[in-house]
Amino acid sequence: MTPITTLSGRTVALFGLGGSGLVTALALKAGGAHVVAWDDNPARTAQAEADGIAVEDLRKSDWSRFSSFILSPGVPLTHPTPHWSVDLAQAAGVEIIGDIELFCRERASIAPNAPFIAITGTNGKSTTTALVSHILREAGRDVQMGGNIGTAILSLLPPSDDRVHVIECSSFQIDLAPSLAPSIGVMLNVSADHLDRHGTLDAYAAIKERLIRHADKVVIGVDDAISRAMAAHVRVPTLRVGLTDKNPGSVFGQSHQIIANTDGDAVAIADLAGISSLRGDHNAQNAAAAVAIALFCQVDTATIDRALHTFPGLPHRMEEIGRRGDVLFINDSKATNADSTEKALKSFDDIFWILGGKSKEGGIAPLRPHFGKVRKAYLIGAASDEYAATLGDSVLHQHCSTLDRAVQQAAQDAAGSTHAVVLLSPASASYDQYPNFEVRGNHFRELVKALPGLEPAMGA
Ligand code: ADP
Repeated sequence: MTPITTLSGRTVALFGLGGSGLVTALALKAGGAHVVAWDDNPARTAQAEADGIAVEDLRKSDWSRFSSFILSPGVPLTHPTPHWSVDLAQAAGVEIIGDIELFCRERASIAPNAPFIAITGTNGKSTTTALVSHILREAGRDVQMGGNIGTAILSLLPPSDDRVHVIECSSFQIDLAPSLAPSIGVMLNVSADHLDRHGTLDAYAAIKERLIRHADKVVIGVDDAISRAMAAHVRVPTLRVGLTDKNPGSVFGQSHQIIANTDGDAVAIADLAGISSLRGDHNAQNAAAAVAIALFCQVDTATIDRALHTFPGLPHRMEEIGRRGDVLFINDSKATNADSTEKALKSFDDIFWILGGKSKEGGIAPLRPHFGKVRKAYLIGAASDEYAATLGDSVLHQHCSTLDRAVQQAAQDAAGSTHAVVLLSPASASYDQYPNFEVRGNHFRELVKALPGLEPAMGA
């Protein structure tokens, strides 16, 4: 844990006692603050009380006693409408911040030169965070990885000069971290997302840009117009990453190779062909970003190459579960919209595609250009009729209703094929049949591993 000493002796209000909220309350308490916490979920307030945190309905509180208000990033700060606790804090003139801000202030106070890598972007944050953490660990560094990737930042060990924090930041977390000033700021890409919570694309992009504005060094993706425009304004040492910019000061992907052109001499760092955890052009962007960060951290190129080859990948993102004969089984349950599924369809050729769930706006119509690669589609969940209509006569498809039936049928149909893949890439939210995409992906993994004759992939 990182005890927060910068609010020692103060009284601090906190709303949102989910995983990171409770950890934050405990870290503040450990550092000497008096914390008053609340959540609308009684199970969470009960847990906080059991852990020794004072619980109080903040609707009834005297806000003049609070020096700061800590808000969970899942709670609306501005859009669609500010949460009632935000209104109360603003009326009382109490600052509204999040756990990453507390970390930044603690770092500034106890170890201002501690290496701190902060990573954001619309897509690829978790993959890049996990990949660069893996590379730095392979290089023998003491790595603390957390933030939006799932481990609350304040549950990590405190910052120090010989320890590197690699932190994934969502736009909501950046919005609550006004003094974010990492030693390396990483902005991967920007596309329309979460606009319900940020109002406009411009507002969303401006929040993302704050992560790099006060960074000592910057790694920035330049494959989309918004990020490219941001890159033009950066004045600190920068490496531009992606597939398009090959000028000095870039690290780029080119036909499976990751090439660094830091100073005018292009050097091939690694060949991604055959690295199953880094399939697809989108992962070349993530790998280029991770390589750029590692170069800024003075990791030698042989270690970077070796680490890329041993990266296990993240579950539910084109995760290889195993093979039956020449048929590969892939879990891409994290693909909850057409944009993500497109990455998977682009990465394979002969596809037995399991899809469906709760449909997102636009459905699967944007995937039409890739329908030619689909041998057969297996529909599950609420959106089956809608997707069947889009597939129409162009793709052979079957209503399977549940994942169990879809896996059985797809495995049977694919048996004996060469170079084929049975792909769960739902292009839909999971909420109609599962609590979240992780449970859906875990179910798929269990069903596949139970198939007779399956050879599990390494680590699956
Ligand atoms: P995030 O943490 O930003 O949600 P992940 O690394 O978990 O990103 O990847 C989630 C999905 O986003 C992947 O399954 C893939 O479909 C897509 N994706 C990953 N990296 C990129 C990228 N660099 N550009 C575009 N899409 C990406």
